[in-house]
Amino acid sequence: MDLGIRGKRGLVCAASKGLGRASAEALAEAGVDLVINARGADALEAAAHEIATKHGVSVTPVAADITTGEGRAAVLEALGGRADILVNNAGGPPPGVWTDWSRDDFIKAIDANMLTAVALMQALVPGMIERGWGRVVNITSQSVRSPIPVLGLSNTARAGLTGFVAGMSRQVAPHGVVVNNLLPGIHATDRADSLDSGVAKAEGISLDEARRRREATIPARSYGQPEDFGATCAFLCSQHARFIIGQNILLDGGALNVTV
Ligand code: NAP
Repeated sequence: MDLGIRGKRGLVCAASKGLGRASAEALAEAGVDLVINARGADALEAAAHEIATKHGVSVTPVAADITTGEGRAAVLEALGGRADILVNNAGGPPPGVWTDWSRDDFIKAIDANMLTAVALMQALVPGMIERGWGRVVNITSQSVRSPIPVLGLSNTARAGLTGFVAGMSRQVAPHGVVVNNLLPGIHATDRADSLDSGVAKAEGISLDEARRRREATIPARSYGQPEDFGATCAFLCSQHARFIIGQNILLDGGALNVTV
């Protein structure tokens, strides 16, 4: 299927590996010229080179912490202030117990997983509105539909972003700008390994055993693959997504057992 976005310009945040990288790959395959971002310069530059060489698009790496004002300014400068497609993503907050977290911990999580996405939408969506076309995908989490008790910081911050997008997506839709959230269930990335390591340590089992136990709870009986996630993200950024507005699309292998 032709996604109809060849020649568009996109920003994918937190994209040197995992779900952000897979989203960047799928957009590049569809012909989108990209700015990609992560903190670690070496892995980011290698990713940019690989994606550009494989798909024949332009990929500009900007090594910066996207959760800071300076980081966002550097990324926006590389874009010349203009993007047709924005994929918001950042690292997830650490796990813990509800009594662990201080005000500063909450502020940090809300900055990273809510206000960073809001700031980038506020910076880039006005230009999309002017041009009458835009696509935004916010990578959030299954925890929006089914909160994960040990990820209270993530549950809190992502609930805030979800509420913001529910209203804002409907305000920008009349101008051809399509904003949605993509909710990963467990996917085979370093983030999953790090969460499984925590479980393995807490329960005195191996990492493989922790993963097997978790896979057994998923109807699809495996972790999601980043490339499938990336393809879904690219579809939401395509011409064909124009009637999908303000949705929270769950990719979780059937783990959440509800009808709607
Ligand atoms: P990952 O494999 O650990 O990759 C994270 C990527 O984000 C890396 O490229 C990392 O590079 C970059 N990054 C992290 N913090 C950043 C920051 N402050 N500024 C810029 N780049 C940053 O993680 P993932 O599994 O793809 O997860 C992506 C998001 O989805 C996270 O928010 C995670 O909580 C959420 N999620 C993941 C799963 C899952 O199963 N994988 C499930 C639910 C939700 P640097 O470290 O070099 O910056």
